[in-house]
Parts: sequence; structure tokens; C-alpha cells
Amino acid sequence: MLQADIQGEIYLSSFVRNNAAPSDAASAGEGLRGAKDPNARHRRTASRAASLAGNLQGRRRRPTSKVESGEFSLARTDGAVADAEILLASRIRAHMATGQLDVTLTDNRYTMISVRRDTECAGARVCPQYRVRLHHMFADAAPLVTQALAHYIGKDDKDASKVLGDFIDANQHRVRAESARKTSKPITQGACHDLQGIYDGLNERYFDGTIEATITWGQRCGKVQKRNSIKMGSYSIEDKSIRIHRSLDRAYVPSFFVEWIVYHEMLHQVHDAPIVNGRRQFHSKAFLEDEAAFEHYALARLWERDHLEQLLTY
Ligand SMILES: [Zn+2]
Repeated sequence: MLQADIQGEIYLSSFVRNNAAPSDAASAGEGLRGAKDPNARHRRTASRAASLAGNLQGRRRRPTSKVESGEFSLARTDGAVADAEILLASRIRAHMATGQLDVTLTDNRYTMISVRRDTECAGARVCPQYRVRLHHMFADAAPLVTQALAHYIGKDDKDASKVLGDFIDANQHRVRAESARKTSKPITQGACHDLQGIYDGLNERYFDGTIEATITWGQRCGKVQKRNSIKMGSYSIEDKSIRIHRSLDRAYVPSFFVEWIVYHEMLHQVHDAPIVNGRRQFHSKAFLEDEAAFEHYALARLWERDHLEQLLTY
């Protein structure tokens, strides 16, 4: 029988990638994204582990439970992953003195190793049972690494955890990157406003069609709440993309107001952002003059003032 003698889970939190900052944290200034490693996406090795990663991503998520929320369940149909798990378990088990070992491969971004130790009692004999979740980078690890895994799992060995830490560091490129919001397809048609139509019209009227940018609605927000501020629009110099806040895609927001925000972001492609007194100046005097040239400028500012509360409640 399985005794309720759980010694707890061990998360090697120090192994968490320290470069996995949320994309929003990489923003610098208004609408300017911080430089990310441009090669990160292309460095994924075309190894067996990479195809495992694909299989792992295809696994269905298990219904939420306290222990395993948000992780991948083992679907016996994806044979490649199941085979790799069995093989890896036996390779690790070969270095262990006692105990049963169950290995699950994951495509987690933050937890590379987690160990759960149970104790199974068969009469007087006590048999430790280890349930281990490992990132798929371990699937084709060298014997030195599987030995370290065995020592870490069985004895919580310090030297072993150092070997594992180095291995994880050396294989960080196999950890799935932040889901690529940047490369996701732009969403231009909103519920109430069509951004592409607005953009095209402005490009024609104000810029002789010279602006080259993509435009998209931002992500939908969950619960409606009163916010202290929202970024109504942003322009990314890096990938020439304009993002408009979903708060503006509501029936009471007039199209001239959405136009004004889009126009403002388009102007960012025309104007440099000089550094003045050590700060990047996104809205220079020349920028502000051009902004005021918008047909409904006064009306838009007035409307914003009168509807601020509503705009912030989204
Ligand atoms: Zn701006």
C-alpha cells in the first residue's frame, strides 16, 4: 500500500532561467521594447529532444489539481515521449541502490526538475518511491548527468545538484521561449473598430502612404476593473508594429478618437526620439506640432478628458 508519507516536492528554484523576464518588463519608455536576444528562437537544437518537445506541447493539459496544475499529463498515445520516459527512468535507476522510479518529461519553462518522494510499505520492508518530473532536455543526457540525477533524487546530493545546475545552464536554449506575442498574427478587426481601415486611411491622408507598420489590437483583459493607467497605444521601433489597447474597441469610443491614437503611434515612425538631458524624448516639439495637425485634435483631447473614467475601466 501507499503510505501517506510524502516528504514534499523539491523544486530547484535556483535553476529557474534568470533571463526569462516577462515581455512587458522588457519595455523601455513609451512603446519601445527592450532588445531581446534576436537569435534565441533560432538556437533550438534540432535534436531528438527538440522533437520530444513538440510532442510534449501537443499533450493535453490535465484538469487542475493541487499538485499538478498546469502541467502536462501523460497521454499513452504519444509513444515517443512515453518511450523516452521509460528509457530515461531505467538509465537513472541503474545508478540507484533502492527504490522505484517514475519519470515524466515536461516542457516546463521554470521548473526543470521536481522530485516527489513517497514511501511504500510492503510488510516490514520500506521501499522509497520517487516520482520525478524532468525537462525534456534530460532525455538524451550523457551518463554523467543521469548518474547525477540518480544521486540527486536518491540522496539530495550537493555535488550532483552542481552537475545538474551546469547541465541546465548549458541547455537553456532548449527551454521554450516566452510565447511569441511579437510573431503572432496581428488582429486588426475589432468588435467595433477596424484598425487596418483606420491605419490605411490615415496613411493616405497624412503620410502619402509612406508609413510601413503593422497594427494590432492588444490582448483582451480578463476581469473588468478600474485601472490607474492604460497604455492606449504603443509603437515598437524594432518590429515596426503598432499596438492599440482593447479598451478602445468599444461602441461608445468614437472612431475619431481611435484614429487619433493610431495617428499618434504612426508619427513615432516619422520622428526620431532624441536623447535630451539623458532621457529619450519620444514627444519632441516637432512631434507635438505634427500631432496637433490631426483634423480632430481638439475634439479628441476633449473627448479623452470627458471619458477618462470609462476608458480606464476595462
Ligand atoms: Zn507617443
